[in-house]
Amino acid sequence: MKTRVYILYTGGTLGMAPQDADDPDSPLEPKPFADLLRFLPGFSDSTSQRRNRLKLDSGSLIELGCDSIEPVDSSDISPQHWVQIAQKIQSVYTDYDGFIVLHGTDTMAYTSSALSFMFENLDKPIVLTGSQRPIAATRTDAVLNFINAMYVAGYQVTGLPLIPEVVIVFADKVLRGCRATKVSSSGWAGFDSPNFPPLGTIGERIVIDPRYLLPRSEGKCLSVETDLVSRVCSISLFPGFPAGSMRQLFLAREIDGIVLCTYGAGNVPTAPDFLAMVAQSVRGDALISLAGDVQRQAIPHGRLIVAISQCTQGIVEMGLYANSCGILERGVLSGLDMTPEAALTKLMWTLGSRTGADRVACMQTSQRGEQTAGHR
Ligand code: ASP
Repeated sequence: MKTRVYILYTGGTLGMAPQDADDPDSPLEPKPFADLLRFLPGFSDSTSQRRNRLKLDSGSLIELGCDSIEPVDSSDISPQHWVQIAQKIQSVYTDYDGFIVLHGTDTMAYTSSALSFMFENLDKPIVLTGSQRPIAATRTDAVLNFINAMYVAGYQVTGLPLIPEVVIVFADKVLRGCRATKVSSSGWAGFDSPNFPPLGTIGERIVIDPRYLLPRSEGKCLSVETDLVSRVCSISLFPGFPAGSMRQLFLAREIDGIVLCTYGAGNVPTAPDFLAMVAQSVRGDALISLAGDVQRQAIPHGRLIVAISQCTQGIVEMGLYANSCGILERGVLSGLDMTPEAALTKLMWTLGSRTGADRVACMQTSQRGEQTAGHR
């Protein structure tokens, strides 16, 4: 039995080494894919003509294809990279049964969320993984993370169920990509999905829980939406929030969508200047160029503002407290229990792929299992 898995390297700690080869404590920087090959199970060295494949204990084979983008620390990842990653996977989609993206952990949850939205009717697993320590380090977690990702992507020969989703495989969990968030900068268990159960657990065995998987989109063709609007921002409230100086951002002509990180269940200050600014932003009837000049100009739909919670766990329920009624009445949408990563990338994707009232409907509906479907 054999299957084919495609690996795309984008950088991150997994493929990093110290800047100064003679100083192990010098800052880590990304290295080319060729430098990793001798550490990656299934790969021979870059000069070998041998086909890359991983032989499992069962005797089954996973044949490996690979590619790389210019490797970066994932703090440098941008929406253009998401498009590049999506297009590379799309170009080989019919040739492989599963896909692995090797990625830095810092923004992995943004990439996994963005890819979740970009791939519609996905019927093969796209697995993101990386590591907390470089693959060349003696105490690395990269090899096990990579092998576990391979087991999920190579489901056809590993006996695991097909997960027709973008997922993060990291340490002891398989997580829905648009529910995951980085929870530790140093612990092996770097990721969690605080508002949704893991799709699977990884220990001596990998156990996938079929109850939590999205249904397969049988018979429907894959489509990849690469039009993302990155004219968005994320604004986190804090006591003493200076509404006056934030007007620049709320009313900026260059901003089409805002993720508003509210307190608890969607609560915000009741200060009239804050609420007036939110109303103007949603209506789109006042625009400030970031260069400074104020213009009054009606724009068709105003900005999409979506409220999420600063709490890692729980759901936005606007209307539960009087302090959330103001933004509800002014047209702010509920982000329910979305992660900040999912909310921001869903906003970019919605603005790029929908127009008018469809945008509101799209934001308020679960698209890839990123939020609890119903809302108050
Ligand atoms: N700074 C690294 C990155 O995100 C961290 C990591 O990969 O763990 O690329």
